[in-house]
Amino acid sequence: MHNFASALAKAKAGTILDRQAIGALLAAGPEESQELFNAANQIRHDHVGDKVHLRAIIEFSNYCRKNCLYCGLRRDNHSIQRYRLTEREILNAVKTARELGFRTVVLQSGEDLYYDAPTIARLVETIKKRHDLAVTLSLGERGRDDYRDWREAGADRYLLKQETADEHLFSIIKPDGSLQQRVQCLRWLKDLGYQTGSGNMVGLPGQSLATLAEDISLMRELDVEMAGIGPFLPHHATPLKAAASGDLVLTLKTLAVTRLCLPQAHLPATTSLCTLTPDGRKLALNCGANVIMPNLTPAGVRDKYLIYPQKADIIEQPEAALKSIQALLAELSRPLAQDYGHAKKTPGRSF
Ligand code: SAM
Ligand code: SF4
Repeated sequence: MHNFASALAKAKAGTILDRQAIGALLAAGPEESQELFNAANQIRHDHVGDKVHLRAIIEFSNYCRKNCLYCGLRRDNHSIQRYRLTEREILNAVKTARELGFRTVVLQSGEDLYYDAPTIARLVETIKKRHDLAVTLSLGERGRDDYRDWREAGADRYLLKQETADEHLFSIIKPDGSLQQRVQCLRWLKDLGYQTGSGNMVGLPGQSLATLAEDISLMRELDVEMAGIGPFLPHHATPLKAAASGDLVLTLKTLAVTRLCLPQAHLPATTSLCTLTPDGRKLALNCGANVIMPNLTPAGVRDKYLIYPQKADIIEQPEAALKSIQALLAELSRPLAQDYGHAKKTPGRSF
């Protein structure tokens, strides 16, 4: 049996927390929550420092072969206009990101097999040849050979959120797949030497604190280098349209506990959190986050990558986003990182 105080003391001492202790932290009451956020902020400072890393995200296709119940890009949503960027358009967006000073680009899309493995490999190779940039891919579930080819082409990182570690809930919200296969992909990615990112959505219908504790345990077990923690936000053209949005405080608590359990990880202030509340970035940076991912998708298509409504980064132009980030970081006395922001090397690993 754990109570909040003993679980927090253990976390501060660096003891590995079991699911019950993680659950006790997630159940923090209003005053305890502030204590939890302060502890996560301190652990973030001690393990990854004060610098904040920027990653430019380029959402290059909103076609998707999957039908995830929560996502506006699901294949059965016929109310959105689909788009695909050409290789040239993607490379132009990458060039803009580099000119604005980014050191990482994240290429993200729905699961769109139009971009076959050689096309993605060529794209990665061209980016690495032309620009001094780290490349993160986030293209969903593919075969091990595809992941291997992209890694060999130079891709540094891969984001593939587990979404939920509850097998039953997973099978409902992602009817085309299984948690087992998703985790298999994450293991392949780790094995191939990618810096690997997972993450979850907080507030999915049917989720409990025990599920969230399971999420954090799974990310620790997988030893992920990155974790995206954001609220679930209902999209009007999905089967989950009537569900409530994830709770702000519970999302922040989940982020903070993830920081306590994965002290070295890179944790973004997620766009979904910034959509839920305008001061999402600041709140996240104060309870464990150390990464911001501005949107560099070309303006002409950006509003079509609508995974949930009112996505915070749809209107803001990259230059304006950078200005407001700089102002926020100055206010928080957090310097902007100038390096690639690679994950700290786990002993014995190859990258
Ligand atoms: N298709 C790839 C995949 O699913 O891994 C990458 C793109 S997908 C749009 C990126 C992330 O968007 C997902 O991992 C999911 O967590 C998030 N997402 C989608 N719909 C969402 C919603 N309604 N609320 C919050 N996050 C959502
Ligand atoms: Fe497709 Fe990813 Fe959205 Fe699922 S979450 S529908 S895989 S884009």
